[in-house]
Amino acid sequence: MNNILYKIQSKISSRILLNYDMKKSTWFRAGGKAEGYVIINSISDLKTVISFADKIKYYIVGVGSNLMVRDKGFDGLILKLGKNFNNIKIKKNSLSVGAGVLDINLAKFAEKKSIKDFEFFTGIPGTIGGAVKMNAGCYGSQTADKLIKILAINKFGQIKYFNKEELKMKYRSSNLKDDLIILKAEFGYEYASKSEITKKKNYIKIKRKSSQPINEKTSGSTFKNPPGEFAASLIEKAGCKGMNIGDASVSKLHSNFIINHGQASAIDIENLGKKIIREVQEKFGITLEWEIKIIGN
Ligand SMILES: Cc1cc2nc3c(=O)[nH]c(=O)nc-3n(C[C@H](O)[C@H](O)[C@H](O)COP(=O)(O)OP(=O)(O)OC[C@H]3O[C@@H](n4cnc5c(N)ncnc54)[C@H](O)[C@@H]3O)c2cc1C
Repeated sequence: MNNILYKIQSKISSRILLNYDMKKSTWFRAGGKAEGYVIINSISDLKTVISFADKIKYYIVGVGSNLMVRDKGFDGLILKLGKNFNNIKIKKNSLSVGAGVLDINLAKFAEKKSIKDFEFFTGIPGTIGGAVKMNAGCYGSQTADKLIKILAINKFGQIKYFNKEELKMKYRSSNLKDDLIILKAEFGYEYASKSEITKKKNYIKIKRKSSQPINEKTSGSTFKNPPGEFAASLIEKAGCKGMNIGDASVSKLHSNFIINHGQASAIDIENLGKKIIREVQEKFGITLEWEIKIIGN
């Protein structure tokens, strides 16, 4: 075992898995291994891991629905928040949501309690931590809409609240640094008729099923929509629909989705993405920007 990982392991209760295959923890089911992978269940374990930040890299993940680790792997420790970060509480002025909560579970909770405006989370297969970082959204709603503030821990082990304004949340982005770990998010909330909420949720579910390859090995939208354009439409018009490298191809259902048909490597996916960027650039003079986070060597 890497000496540092050994030291960390001796001080925390969670078990560090070595040479962990990140294929198992990303929706793409492609890519390399992490030197270590650990599911963290307490703030004190998290602080311990972070206290080694000058000796070993760490990277926080949700459920890897927007993430790819390159084939040669990640030479550090991948952290995932465990069940103690999975609580949702209704407070007087806010809905307090652990960063490990699945978006869909927040949507279900809100529907059950007749709380509106969280229906769009039905359509995003990530966690609240990932949703805040990415400002995830769909069908006209985004995470920033109802967000008030987050609680996060920085690389010095300090735990602080950050108001939404400090996060500079824009379309599919925030200014959160990779070494900042979100612990929970607080959202404003309003009650509404449950039937209206259910109707909206069902609409989103149907729409997604018909327009996105949601049962494939994919990371969702590969590129951000450039201002005033749709990436999918540019990709399609550039003739990239169905294009492939190895077992990675551009979805025929949604051109901004890359699909791993089984054996694609991370480099196949990344090269296919680069090819799309070149084709779109040549045809329209627009440079597509990756939405998917790619880490590792
Ligand atoms: C089929 C499919 C459909 C999708 N549709 C949509 C869509 O409609 N709209 C949309 O916006 N996205 C969509 N996505 C992309 C993805 O689901 C979102 O970006 C989601 O928010 C990622 O969450 P995650 O927990 O999986 O994060 P990961 O993919 O694990 O990580 C993504 C980023 O978030 C960071 N992160 C994760 N947790 C934390 C935390 N606790 N603290 C700090 N940083 C953290 C990671 O470090 C990384 O930088 C789709 C993906 C798939 C596979």
